[in-house]
Amino acid sequence: MDVALHRGRCLCGAVRYQVVGRLRDVLFCHCANCRRVHGHVSAYASAKREELVLLEDHALTWYRSESDETPGVHRGFCRVCGSSLFWDPRGQDHVYVSAGTLDPPTGLHGAGHVWTSQAGDYYDICDDLPQADGSSGGRFLVR
Ligand SMILES: [Zn+2]
Ligand SMILES: [Zn+2]
Repeated sequence: MDVALHRGRCLCGAVRYQVVGRLRDVLFCHCANCRRVHGHVSAYASAKREELVLLEDHALTWYRSESDETPGVHRGFCRVCGSSLFWDPRGQDHVYVSAGTLDPPTGLHGAGHVWTSQAGDYYDICDDLPQADGSSGGRFLVR
């Protein structure tokens, strides 16, 4: 079955979205900014920009993340419950969606680890997925 519709939400439900299309598999980002925002490594699936539809967004707040390596990044979170939902490199084709906010089953898999040069010193990466010191440049994302 082709998973063509995904839904997701923040913890409290004040931000809800759907993706009307396929999501790309999950990148685990070890950068210092993601670890601060998420409390640990981020896990981002990605959607084509035009396929991400906000169903409820009254509490969605965008933080312009000046210190991200990618210029123009905005991080979207719920100002009521604090859930971190989106990583949006404005001007690019895809928006990144926190995989943990998706309703199961997602049908997704891990694609790889990025920014391992900034990984925390309190854990090890213990799987066989590909790793990149910085951005994967899209090469871990096959579709
Ligand atoms: Zn919320
Ligand atoms: Zn990151």
